[in-house]
Amino acid sequence: MTIKQLFAAAALSALVAAPTLADDLVPLSDETVEVAKMLRDKALESDEAYDLLASLTTKVGARLAASPKEVEAQAWGVEEFTRLGFDKVWKEPVMVPKWTRILERAEVVGNYAQPLVITALGKSVGTPEGGVTAEIVHFATFDDLKAADPAMVKDKIVFISNRMERFKTGAGYGPAVKARGAGASEAARKGAKAILIRSIGTDTHRLPHTGGVTYDEDAPKIAAAALSNPDADQLVRMLGYSDSISVHLNIQTTMEDPVEMYNVVGEITGRVKPDEYVVLGSHLDSWDLGTGAVDDGAGVAITMAAANLIQDLTKERPYRSIRVVLFSAEELGLIGARQYAEAHEKKGDMANHMIGAESDFGAGPVWALASNVSENAVHVVDKMAALMGPLGIVRADRKAGGGPDVGQLRAKGMPVMDLMQDGTDYFDLHHTADDTLDKVDPAALRQNVAAWVVFTYLAAEWPGSFR
Ligand SMILES: [Zn+2]
Repeated sequence: MTIKQLFAAAALSALVAAPTLADDLVPLSDETVEVAKMLRDKALESDEAYDLLASLTTKVGARLAASPKEVEAQAWGVEEFTRLGFDKVWKEPVMVPKWTRILERAEVVGNYAQPLVITALGKSVGTPEGGVTAEIVHFATFDDLKAADPAMVKDKIVFISNRMERFKTGAGYGPAVKARGAGASEAARKGAKAILIRSIGTDTHRLPHTGGVTYDEDAPKIAAAALSNPDADQLVRMLGYSDSISVHLNIQTTMEDPVEMYNVVGEITGRVKPDEYVVLGSHLDSWDLGTGAVDDGAGVAITMAAANLIQDLTKERPYRSIRVVLFSAEELGLIGARQYAEAHEKKGDMANHMIGAESDFGAGPVWALASNVSENAVHVVDKMAALMGPLGIVRADRKAGGGPDVGQLRAKGMPVMDLMQDGTDYFDLHHTADDTLDKVDPAALRQNVAAWVVFTYLAAEWPGSFR
């Protein structure tokens, strides 16, 4: 064979071996791919998401679930969807308990007396009026508290000092957050008067991280608060100098009966299958300390901007509908998402929710794409990943979970994707007073929208099924 013949043979075999779609798979048209590319490139030139985020975090600011600020945020959502020209905008009711932070103070008394910087955990009960004073009993981890003899714990204030580790994926959160979620009931069952945990956060600032505590039905409810990282270090050092360190803790909160809040939905109605939905999820509520820029104003802005680009820049509505859902009360326990999943299961249209994804991991760039879809749709995911390649995004070799809110819909059978963000710095800010707009990089936000618009457009325009 001459060199020329060799090339010809190679070209021929490449042609034969080129991946052609199996006959039973629904192809993705070249035109759809071209439009997705155009949308991706336009997204990189648009600051729509940043403008939405600035508007939400400035005009409304912090928006604790069930507070008057969440009501304002919901009105903001309706107004912005309408202004952007979404085809349908509506609210779905959610009952949300109303927790309010009133007072939080802690100080070391006796040996090494000095104030400590703390914040009450979300949903925490108060201490008795005037506060409690008790000796500290220290555990390195939640599991150590679990294994402890109740006699050690009785009438003390439990202190758990485990430090959250920093990972790009946020993998340090799960192991550390047990102390926040389950620590109070575990301590109370052993007779503790209150619990202080090291903040679940990776920063070294003197800013405590709030976040929900979960009380078990069978345990007494005790006050629960988080120390800033430096204050937790301080307490650990004091315990090195003396076995007897006492703290006075005064936390006052209220918990009122549930009030009616709303998931806010903006829809771009499909031209062929209006009753099939691609779901873009995020949550509109935030904790009360910062202005909720990274958690989860960023997700709200990214998903709204991605869907908006599609309705703005394409000639016609996509094949199926796009629903941008701004969930209520995620921080109090995924209340809005659970309500959405239950309501739509009852309504009988859960099966029309074709695929979904959630943006709730800050404003860092997307770096990987994971999927959890039927085999027949994998070739579409491959194309999404290829189109996201120039944005620095790789295919993740794990199954997508869908995120906390959209995960509730996955549990009812909806396929999901994860647009995985770089969360290296996310837990420096998460649930603190430092979660503010200045921490958001507009370029990273544009990159997010570019990735989201590729996912959203292909998911809405490909006529096959992800289920
Ligand atoms: Zn969040």
